[in-house]
Amino acid sequence: MNIILLGAPGAGKGTQAKRLTSERDMVQLSTGDMLRQSAESGSQIGIDAKALMDKGELVSDAVVVDIISRRIDQPDCAKGFALDGFPRTLEQAAALDVMLDEKNKSLDAVVEMRVDDVEMVARIVGRFTCANCGEGYHDRFKTPAVEGVCDVCGVSDFQRRADDNANTVTTRLMAYYKKTSPLIGYYFAKGKLVTVDGMGTIDEVTKSISNVLDQVDGSAKSQSRGLLGSIFG
Ligand code: ADP
Ligand code: ADP
Ligand code: ZN
Repeated sequence: MNIILLGAPGAGKGTQAKRLTSERDMVQLSTGDMLRQSAESGSQIGIDAKALMDKGELVSDAVVVDIISRRIDQPDCAKGFALDGFPRTLEQAAALDVMLDEKNKSLDAVVEMRVDDVEMVARIVGRFTCANCGEGYHDRFKTPAVEGVCDVCGVSDFQRRADDNANTVTTRLMAYYKKTSPLIGYYFAKGKLVTVDGMGTIDEVTKSISNVLDQVDGSAKSQSRGLLGSIFG
């Protein structure tokens, strides 16, 4: 399956993408992670991107479209992917349509995760991750079972993102409302949009997303059976 996880910063896209990809055969494609890696590697594109990311502004469409197009060409994406943080503008969505067409791929669903603004801010300012394995945590909502030790890899090295602070949150939320939220209408019109309540616990949201993806998968299979039936039946 190829899906998009759509939602404001802090909505829980990365958390759910990691769970989905461990349960289903797909890879997580996070443009935020790719840009941060690119900045760490010291490339000029990464350094320029970091300056915008630290202010809470979006990186240019051309840069992220190029990154994602190259990534989708990697063999591991053939089994399916969950786009996390891309597309973020109508221009990126249009470029994704063209690129998927050219690569003979298509989107199965766009899962919108809806979360209140107050909750998004709380999720962003409390977020931290394991520096070793990338597991996500939260000061209040998801603390490690043993304080200071990662549940997954046992390493005691955590990090916080430079842009996860109260100063950039408003800019990031406004960028979401102005530039990204029009994608809800874009994908609704294409019949791809499914909306889940992102306000529940991490487990509850995983369950809601799993349910909608099972439905999408089921109807895709019965449609193809119907098509074969009409040809051969
Ligand atoms: P996004 O990728 O959409 O920016 P993340 O998945 O990184 O969001 O989640 C943001 C923060 O909120 C993280 O610290 C994560 O542990 C926490 N979080 C994610 N989902 C939930 C949830 N359903 N309830 C409470 N906290 C959550
Ligand atoms: P979050 O879900 O918390 O906003 P991300 O890791 O997805 O975090 O994004 C962090 C930053 O990286 C964004 O604020 C933006 O500057 C940049 N970025 C990530 N993906 C894109 C994209 N598709 N288009 C433009 N900028 C992006
Ligand atoms: Zn870890």
